[in-house]
Amino acid sequence: MLYLRISADPKNDELGVRRQEKELRALAERLGWEIIPGVAGVYSDDDRSAYNGKPRERFEDLLADLRLGVVDGVLCWHSDRLYRRPRDLDRLIDVLEVHDTQVQTVKSGIVDLSNATGRAVAKTIAVWSEHESALKAERLMSKHDQMRQAGQPVGGGPRAYGWRSATINGTKTSVLEPTEAQVLRDAATRILHGEKLGTITRDLNERGVATATGAPWNPSSLKAMLVRPRVVALAGSGKDGMVPVISEETGEPVRAAWPAILDMDTWQSVRAILLDADRRTNTGRVHTRLLPGFLFCTTCAGPMQGRPPRARRMSPHGRWESGRAAKYGCVNPKCRVKANTLQDETEKLVTSLVAVWLAEQEFPDQAPPADDPIAADITAFEAQAAHYRELMVTRAMAEEDALPAINLVRAKIQALKAKQAQTAKRRTRPLPSAEQWLNLHGLTERRAVLSDVITRIDVKPGPWGDAYHPDRIHITFRDDTHGR
Ligand SMILES: [Zn+2]
Repeated sequence: MLYLRISADPKNDELGVRRQEKELRALAERLGWEIIPGVAGVYSDDDRSAYNGKPRERFEDLLADLRLGVVDGVLCWHSDRLYRRPRDLDRLIDVLEVHDTQVQTVKSGIVDLSNATGRAVAKTIAVWSEHESALKAERLMSKHDQMRQAGQPVGGGPRAYGWRSATINGTKTSVLEPTEAQVLRDAATRILHGEKLGTITRDLNERGVATATGAPWNPSSLKAMLVRPRVVALAGSGKDGMVPVISEETGEPVRAAWPAILDMDTWQSVRAILLDADRRTNTGRVHTRLLPGFLFCTTCAGPMQGRPPRARRMSPHGRWESGRAAKYGCVNPKCRVKANTLQDETEKLVTSLVAVWLAEQEFPDQAPPADDPIAADITAFEAQAAHYRELMVTRAMAEEDALPAINLVRAKIQALKAKQAQTAKRRTRPLPSAEQWLNLHGLTERRAVLSDVITRIDVKPGPWGDAYHPDRIHITFRDDTHGR
């Protein structure tokens, strides 16, 4: 009787299993044991960790056959291959007690489960194996956390599009994959020009541009690539690495060890468009609250969501649990100090601060001022690009130095033009007066006005038990609507 198990066979080539089988057959010969011919004699569980709790079908078959008395001996590579969890060992002992069955291993000799001492030894080993597996998982996890905190790439999963790994001076690191990085930069530029994610991905698929995994492009994965902090060389964590890691010491975002693909300005503009609350109101989701999409937790920079109210109720243990009012809260499970704030009070505060702001906009129909700061910036960058071009043409600057510089300036011009276009678009929709705003009732209409007036609301966590305090709430108004 053979029981074969190898804990990891990611290549699925069964090579490891075959090597074990050869040695096990040799041991059987030495012991003078007969292996039942056919499949029933060899119980092979390839690529199944005995620890992680996935069902090991062949182990179950073995137990069943032992119970039936079909087999009268078990051979395995090492006892920890047979039972890693104390629970498995207990089941094996139960079966072996009924039948007089021997367990032999290649690596650790006979496993004597017929007397109390042998069973105690085996159980101790099983408990330690389980402990060791748990420790290994823990060590791996904290190492990943440490690497994220240090801004180092964390292995595992598919390669991130835009970078490839390379070994420089003996250290493994991430370097840019120039063609792929350019695909992402182009996509960012097109987003800034108001193109839709779907149009861009369709285009990439038609042109046969490959993704890192070879799967076709889709809007949500492209969006993730563009909004993730890693694209500007900041470490990310949380679900899909969307939330920038904030250093506990400095309170600043942690710089990553790999090179950036987008510059900070472009990234922030792209992120503002792709994560815009206004856009999120157009996804067909019906909002039942005023502020989702606008509120962010200052601890983790993550979005806050509404939490329904709860009535006072009786717990299953017969105790009264107090009710609570509806609130907004940080939903990032990794957040150290989640921000929370009462829904009604927060919405009232935002409504009145927006009314005050609207009342201060004295000349709602005034034309934009002549000295448009964005236009001035564009002119300056255009002059800069012309300068580089001149240097290149006159050979005062090498082409490989001048071209990236020109591209960078050009990207900045494109970002500014997109911002200009967006501002112009927003200005075509007149803002309500403070009074109109206070009398506006439809949630969709109110959210639309909010996205014209404010960019975000940051909420600081309060001391324990503090459900709401106006000082914890900071509204950022859009500055580009000032010149209306
Ligand atoms: Zn948070």
